[in-house]
Amino acid sequence: MTRTVYVNGDYVPEDQASVSVFDRGFLMADGVYEVVSVLGGKLIDFDGHMVRLKRSLSELAIDNPLSDEDYLAAHRDLVARNDITDGLVYLQVTRGNPGDRDFAYPPAGTRPTVVMFTQSKPGLADAPAAKTGWTVVSVEDLRWGRRDIKTVQLLYPSMAKMEAKARGADDAWMVEDGRVTEGTSNNAYIVKGNRIITRELSHDILHGITRAAVLRFAREAQMQVEERSFTIAEAQEADEAFITSASAFVMPVVSIDGAQVGSGAVGPVARRLREIYLEESLKTAV
Ligand code: PMP
Repeated sequence: MTRTVYVNGDYVPEDQASVSVFDRGFLMADGVYEVVSVLGGKLIDFDGHMVRLKRSLSELAIDNPLSDEDYLAAHRDLVARNDITDGLVYLQVTRGNPGDRDFAYPPAGTRPTVVMFTQSKPGLADAPAAKTGWTVVSVEDLRWGRRDIKTVQLLYPSMAKMEAKARGADDAWMVEDGRVTEGTSNNAYIVKGNRIITRELSHDILHGITRAAVLRFAREAQMQVEERSFTIAEAQEADEAFITSASAFVMPVVSIDGAQVGSGAVGPVARRLREIYLEESLKTAV
């Protein structure tokens, strides 16, 4: 089956989908994105992703070309047209095509480019890695200073992912001024007793939609949440560690820079939070 993708209001076969070489997204990484996971044909945490999309666009003064209802309809259309049971919908909005290359933003009225496509991932919620956990290595965080905006400038996280793979790990935790910021495409946590520790929100990290939901569920389950940064050494000494993201949900981390975390196996807190997150977010899936 040929995948159908969305380009500026049209549904087209992927081999006929195109954007201009002058698109600001292509020339300057001048665009933002969202990834919404799909479980059982339904969208997880859709409203949260729309809130963040609008914030990212507004921080960059890119006009929002569609309403929430339009985005929802397009997401649902793509899921149906591509027969997605489990997987994700990728959405990207760029500042559009000014018809030439210029550092100045294009004139008002230049239409933003909107692209959406699906990725099928059967059994996404049953990823075998959730039973064994990920290994991570630390790398210096060399990204720009507005990581709270979900831009498409993903070269450094991509380089960090490759370094992690080269070092035999599943992912990298980025470190700035000696303290963990986040994973290449996820938020980072440690667990000490009944306390879940994760870096506070600021311009230094992406405000994960999964993070917000998991912290809410953790508090509801009477766990204590401490929003503060931590070092790699502290993480290596923790009882457990894990990451969250829209596509990995809650994923345990069992080793950091070669040092086993806790027992070196998936711990009860990460396991429980994963269960709660999947259970609760399916209830509000649309
Ligand atoms: N941090 C970074 C750098 C990310 O790229 C992502 C995933 N896009 C996250 C955190 C997790 O965010 P979310 O839970 O909204 O997927």
